[in-house]
Order: sequence, then structure tokens, then C-alpha cells
Amino acid sequence: MPSFKVYRGSPDGIKESTTTKPDLTGDQVLVKITASGLCGTDLHYKKADIVLGHEGVGVVEELGPGVRHLKKGDRVGWGYLHDSCGICDECLQGQETYCPERKFYGEADLDQGSFAEAAVWREAFLFKVPDALTDEEAAPLNCGGATVWTALHKYGVPADATVGVLGVGGLGHLAIQFASKMGMNVVVLSHSDSKKDEAMQLGAHRFVATKGATKLDIGPSKLNALLITSSVPLEWDLYLPILHAEAIIFPITVDFGDFRIPAMPLIASGLRVQGTVVAARYEHIKMLEFAAEHGIKPIMMHFPLNKEGIEESMKTLEEGKMRYRGVLKP
Ligand SMILES: [Zn+2]
Ligand SMILES: [Zn+2]
Repeated sequence: MPSFKVYRGSPDGIKESTTTKPDLTGDQVLVKITASGLCGTDLHYKKADIVLGHEGVGVVEELGPGVRHLKKGDRVGWGYLHDSCGICDECLQGQETYCPERKFYGEADLDQGSFAEAAVWREAFLFKVPDALTDEEAAPLNCGGATVWTALHKYGVPADATVGVLGVGGLGHLAIQFASKMGMNVVVLSHSDSKKDEAMQLGAHRFVATKGATKLDIGPSKLNALLITSSVPLEWDLYLPILHAEAIIFPITVDFGDFRIPAMPLIASGLRVQGTVVAARYEHIKMLEFAAEHGIKPIMMHFPLNKEGIEESMKTLEEGKMRYRGVLKP
């Protein structure tokens, strides 16, 4: 029976405990964790009694009797989705992230996560890490990368589109790289100029500071898509004029409140607000391949994967000081 150290949320800080799983059955795989990203969603659960972390990478250590493709020593990762039914409309269409029986971080398998020594997952929901990516580089791609990739790749944003990335943080700095390498014209919208040089180095074509602006000058092309990766509510008077007709608006940052937009411009310009959550497995695999092929790598701050390291990384993220994704290593 696999038994391993895990880190749980609690009202008074991170708690270390032990999870013991039954012997592996079916296509279950025991993964020894070598790196984990820290995602904004982990902060939502930091006081909940669940094992935290969902940007995991590790090495296959033990195989269940039904494992067909992975072998011991393979480097694998996983993200927000742990399992799905496999037979519903959504699953059969490759949209298993919307399966009614999906198993998501924070809702299922609360006794394990990537802030841990190891975890047991189904082979079918693990992804091989391409050779061009280190364990640390791959970790933040498993949720942050998957989320921005799906918005850019799945919903018909063409390569010649002008894409706005609002916010340069954990998600935004990855969105800039993916959109740029996909051939898109990337306009970064950020509060101040402080992240301008970095955004341009990541592949942005234009950088616009929004602080105090009454009008945004984004150049000749209006936005065909806008990825909102900041949790600040949008001043639509500022943003509606820079949207092209039929632009797609992706509210990506998790917010438990309502998403509000004035109805008339939405209708009159044929705008689309598109929800999207992480990545189905097909998209996830394409994202990892694309990142490996095009040298897309997160900018990271490193922390030890222990109680102190987790608490420190969460504090850094909460204070808005993460540049740009925290990665924990044992
Ligand atoms: Zn996440
Ligand atoms: Zn299903």
C-alpha cells in the first residue's frame, strides 16, 4: 500500500500529514513528485482541509496491473482534471473537462495533490513531459499553461488575430508567449509600465499601461480576442472601444462574483464572452508539445516543497510579488 507525505490546507497554516492508498489497481500509477507549481486556485483552498497543489510533475515509480503505456522512470505531469466517466457526450467529444462526473482538484481526491511526496493517478490522466522541458518548467504549464492555451487554441482565434492580454502574471506571462509563438499580434495591457521590458522580451508586440488612461492606444488593429488574466473588474468604457466586432472575451482568472458587461455593445458588436476551464487531454498534450517545440518556459520563483516553502510561496503570491509563477521542489 503506497503511503506518502502530503500537505493540507487549514485555518491556521499548512499541515503535514500522511496519505495511505490501497494497492494499485487498474491503470493507476504511483508518481513520485519532483516539482509542483503554485496556482491562484490553491489560495482559494488554503484554509480547506484538503491536500493542495494541482500543477504536478514527477517520476513514475510503480504501475498498476492495467497500465499499458507508461513505464517506471517516465517523467509525467498532471493538472486540474483527475478523471472523467469516459462515455458521456462531453467525454466522447474530447471535452472531458465538462463531463458531469469529472473529478477536479478541490472537489475530488481530496487526500492527495501535488504538494506532496507522491500521488496515485490514472495513467489515462497523466501526461508525458517532453524532453525539452525540465520538471520545474513543465509544472506551471499543467494548469496555467493549459488554461491560456485552450483559450487561444480551441475557440477559433486565428493566427493573424490581434490578441489582448490583460495582466502580466502567472497566466498572462504564459499567454504572451503562446500567442506570440502562434503568430498572433500580441497587445499587453498592464496597470503600469513596470513589466513592459519583460513583456516585450516574452514576445509582446505592443505594451499599453492602463493606469489613469481615458483612452487606450493599441495601434492600427483592434482586438479580436481579449484574455482577462487580472482579477480587477474591467472599466468597459476603456476596453470596449479597442475590441474588434465579434471579438472573443475570455474571463480566465477565477472570481466567484458575477462577470458583468454592458449589454448593448455586446449585442451591437457581436461580442462573445467565452468561458473556459483548464484543458481537455487532447489540448493539454498539444500544449506541452507546442511549448517544447517553441521554447515556451515559465519565469519562475523557487521554493522548497515543505510546510515553510508552501507558506512562503503562498504569501508571495497573495502579496502580488510572484514573478511570475511559483515552483516548489522537494
Ligand atoms: Zn490552477
Ligand atoms: Zn464523461
